[in-house]
Amino acid sequence: MERQTAWDKILQHLKNRVHETDFETWFRDSRQSSESHDLILVRVKSPLFVTYISDNFAQQIAEAASLAGFGEREIRFGSDDSFPGSVAPHKSTPETRRRTSALNPEYTFENFVTGESNRLAHAAALRVADQPTRQYNPLFVCGGSGLGKTHLMQAIGHRRLSRHPGDRILYMTSESFVNEVAQGIRFNRMEDVRHKLRAADLFLVDDVQFFVGKEASLTELFHTFNALYDDGKQIVFSSDAPPREINGLTDRLKSRFEWGLIVDIQPPEFETRVAILRKKAETHNIDLPDDVAYLLAARCKKHVRELESSLSKVKLIADLRGEALTAELTRDVLPDLIGGRDDASSTPTEILKAVAAHFGLKPSELRQRTKKGAIVFPRQVAMYVMKEATSMSFPEIGRLFGDRHHTTALHAVRKISALREEDPELNRQITNLIAQFRP
Ligand code: ADP
Ligand code: MG
Repeated sequence: MERQTAWDKILQHLKNRVHETDFETWFRDSRQSSESHDLILVRVKSPLFVTYISDNFAQQIAEAASLAGFGEREIRFGSDDSFPGSVAPHKSTPETRRRTSALNPEYTFENFVTGESNRLAHAAALRVADQPTRQYNPLFVCGGSGLGKTHLMQAIGHRRLSRHPGDRILYMTSESFVNEVAQGIRFNRMEDVRHKLRAADLFLVDDVQFFVGKEASLTELFHTFNALYDDGKQIVFSSDAPPREINGLTDRLKSRFEWGLIVDIQPPEFETRVAILRKKAETHNIDLPDDVAYLLAARCKKHVRELESSLSKVKLIADLRGEALTAELTRDVLPDLIGGRDDASSTPTEILKAVAAHFGLKPSELRQRTKKGAIVFPRQVAMYVMKEATSMSFPEIGRLFGDRHHTTALHAVRKISALREEDPELNRQITNLIAQFRP
């Protein structure tokens, strides 16, 4: 008999956690393609499987992995040999992976659809990609979640890289920046960190709202900004709100953020949504009839992300049924795809996803049994939102997060509710999160 791979062992636990039909459909043909001490790469049938599995079974997979003794590893899915953002497993440690946060190959200008909602942001992004300009330095892109900020920032990186291959592009999420600084302090190598930050020719920092309260990182960001700015290097920031409205940032940093140009991205209009769907269909080789595009665009109004995933899902269902992607089929399955929140079991998963996304984490990371600061707080927020937005009990919530005792959930809820009263910015974020899920 062949030796069991880590994935085989995980599958044995997964079998008990997902419906038999689901297991047969989604996991029967999955194979481990490689593993390292912190990463397991699993090959599945097609890109649609990758999307569907990550969207729907992340939680169960994380549970199964921890039961099989692989809770600390990242599990990544891919089809063929093209693993998204694939990293050389033997070289990868959590730290190096964060540090090199590569650009997503799909987030290019070619794949970015423009409309009234994002025209200015797009034009400014193109401009700074081609040439740093004082007036546009820094470029500050703001807008709600899922509207294309990350896509646009990475597009700037891609374009600069293709025109000036020698340039050093540094794209960082605020989380990776904070981590980097924390590690620098801890291992007494802040000089290296500074050296690396200041060597950038193009510096992109995504989601700066998450810097709030991270004093050491705020200071470092301020000095990095000054050094790069003085060298005439282009800097781009993104955030869910304009600098002025981000409470808890130092005034000197806020004023730096406002030195250049602030552009915002609004939710896309109907026509833009249709155009985005067409573009995604083209990229993923999906034959998308107009009436299907209209139906989907009419239903998903706020997030481009949701628009995209609704397309992958209808396509997938059509494939599974062996039918063409038609308006009829779309109408038939739409209620399950969008707004189908009445299904009691889907809500905790959705909350996990939303809170994870809010903190730039993966749902599986939130469920890890770890005391890492970067995880503990988001996890407490997730527990709190679950308590507020669902009828789950403390023991149920505890179980969902790696079998914790109910007092852990109770403590989390008490702590967050106290913090909400002290911190208006946190209060605003949590109110928004809860509002998405309250029936
Ligand atoms: P944000 O960073 O603002 O939360 P993302 O950049 O992650 O949003 O975008 C979410 C998804 O929507 C991504 O897959 C992205 O490619 C897609 N997207 C957003 N805006 C556009 C657009 N104008 N054209 C094409 N795809 C878009
Ligand atoms: Mg983003």
